[in-house]
Amino acid sequence: MFKRSLSAMSKNIGRRLDGKVCVVTASTEGIGFAIAKRLGSEGGKIVVSSRKQKSVDNAVEALKSHGVKDVIGTSCHVGNSEDRKRLFQTAIETFGRIDCLVSNAAVNPEVGSVTETSEKAWDKIFDINVKAAYLLSKEVKPFLQDSNGGSIIFVSSIGGYQPFDLLGAYSVSKTALFGLTKALALEVVNDNIRVNCVAPGVIETKFSSALYESETAKETTIQMIPMKRLGKVDEIAGVVAFLASDDASYMTGETIAAAGGMLSRL
Ligand code: NAP
Repeated sequence: MFKRSLSAMSKNIGRRLDGKVCVVTASTEGIGFAIAKRLGSEGGKIVVSSRKQKSVDNAVEALKSHGVKDVIGTSCHVGNSEDRKRLFQTAIETFGRIDCLVSNAAVNPEVGSVTETSEKAWDKIFDINVKAAYLLSKEVKPFLQDSNGGSIIFVSSIGGYQPFDLLGAYSVSKTALFGLTKALALEVVNDNIRVNCVAPGVIETKFSSALYESETAKETTIQMIPMKRLGKVDEIAGVVAFLASDDASYMTGETIAAAGGMLSRL
């Protein structure tokens, strides 16, 4: 039954983002790519990015082949200020405006609990997962102020609510994004900018492969999920498309969990 509703969902994609310029970080594969594809399928003009130019070029071609008409890309390591500047400049030079930022990049260089995390890994995690999200928001704000209804969407994690044992610092960084969402939403509410967040559960991507690649790991992971299955990237992309669209016009400062029923309260 669930399979049927998923295919119905993908056939039912509307044009809620017609003409909206959407910049998506870390969007050459996984959840980010699915978000770029979904926003583009709904009429958005898309700017894809990630660290490697080759991956960006491939993603642009792949999106075009999926029927996304207006799509460009540039390399952008979100921790690099020149790269972030170029990302927004590229969007403005090509499309003349920015209406939506999806801040999706994150890293987890070490596996371990909070106190097992090295200081170096802690700094890297917070630099990319939190500080870069704050800087991207700060830098995109003037462009969104010129939009007729701007939107920022952070990609957090269900681990931000219920920390994963072996992803201690990463989980804390994802909790921080809930706070950033709330604080920023209030700050920019009079600029006609909405700020929301999505907290994915365990989604089948390269990033989470350690959680499902072996049969034992998969069994342990599935046991944590009330729906007893992993999530698909398109199931996160749909939530982001909703948040970016006017269907969410009265929503700001909120986080939507899409995690197969996993605990989503702090
Ligand atoms: P993924 O499939 O591994 O994709 C990672 C993407 O990020 C790639 O396009 C990669 O391209 C890019 N990237 C990595 N570091 C970057 C950086 N510093 N700057 C810019 N781009 C960078 O990962 P994913 O699973 O889709 O994860 C995407 C987001 O979802 C992350 O925020 C993650 O925390 C969150 N999330 C994932 C899951 C899950 O189960 N998968 C669950 C909860 C939350 P390059 O190598 O070319 O840079």
